[in-house]
Amino acid sequence: MSTGPTPNPWIADLAPYKPGRAKRAGGGPVEKLSANEAALGPSPKAVAAVEAAAEDLWHYPDPGAAHLRAAIAEAHGLDADRIVCGAGSDEVLSLLAHIFAKPGDEIVHSQYGFAMYPVIARGLGARAVPVANAATLVADVDGILAAVTERTRLVYLDNPNNPTGAMLPWDEVVRLHRGLPGGVILVLDGAYAEAVTDPAYEAGAALVDAADNVVMTRTFSKLYGLAGLRLGWAYAPPAIADWLNRLRPPFNVNTTAQAAGVAALSDRDHLARARDHNTRWRDWLTAALMAAGIEVVPSQTNFVLARFPRVAGRTAKDALDFLADNGVLVRWLPDQGLDAYLRITVGTEQQMHALAELLAMFMEGWTRAAEG
Ligand SMILES: *Cc1c(COP(=O)(O)O)cnc(C)c1O
Repeated sequence: MSTGPTPNPWIADLAPYKPGRAKRAGGGPVEKLSANEAALGPSPKAVAAVEAAAEDLWHYPDPGAAHLRAAIAEAHGLDADRIVCGAGSDEVLSLLAHIFAKPGDEIVHSQYGFAMYPVIARGLGARAVPVANAATLVADVDGILAAVTERTRLVYLDNPNNPTGAMLPWDEVVRLHRGLPGGVILVLDGAYAEAVTDPAYEAGAALVDAADNVVMTRTFSKLYGLAGLRLGWAYAPPAIADWLNRLRPPFNVNTTAQAAGVAALSDRDHLARARDHNTRWRDWLTAALMAAGIEVVPSQTNFVLARFPRVAGRTAKDALDFLADNGVLVRWLPDQGLDAYLRITVGTEQQMHALAELLAMFMEGWTRAAEG
């Protein structure tokens, strides 16, 4: 019998994080379209703010992130007292689970939802309950409601959804909320809210104001282009904001991230350019893939999910390897049951042309009839 350190059994059961392939087989440059990072990068104002903040690195950051919360509140028309910032929205998503769930509890999410949700649940000994998506790959509201039991503490809904790119219209989100018991927390993860163009979308701040069991999370990692700084936030009912502030480490958001967030919010032109670029090249990429015979899930994000034939030589895995051999990295997610798909980030104009050319080459000579 070992007397050494023993982790909680649910920690020992955690699977190590598997990063996507990061290098080209023979060396050489790669085009990374695998992590939904911003095609245009961050605002130059955010970069300048980081450089300026670098002169003050020996002081601890403002534990209340006051300037940043004020800037978020102003940009979104929200109450700053109910905004809680985190080291990426990952951190606030995880803190929420730690407030409400304990070992043996259940956390419900879409099967094709954000891969962190089951990791968060298992990390605290709770049970992750995946719910099959609808045929359109959008979240299945009735399925989620049917999965709720008296052990359910949270429902995570990433809307629009990663990795499918599909969006649940607002009336469906409201229907989901109405169907949940009052003690279940509905977390509306709006990581891609800035990329949405469909008018049927709402990120959910009004529902946070109207209910005591809804939290909205947002991030600077995607269209704002600040993934490397780790900056996200939650908008929560007063009681939940208070619990988040008690639980979070006081200096969880560093000085440079706070400064960059304020500057990024002040540069509305950059965000508008990022949105326009994303909309234009998302449409272009969708059309180019379809012209090559590849099906595409309609996307409201900064990536598209592309379905490949289940035919030897033309599968998603074959395409993944072919692209990697040619220096283009995309994401294959067989662990989530999406083995026939690749998730491709909307990149620069050059990257999109290169990718489309490669995939046209990869699919050349294929006809749908061959799939049987
Ligand atoms: C990227 C992503 C996040 C988290 O991003 P952070 O970098 O931690 O802010 C959260 N949810 C979804 C669905 C995402 O795709």
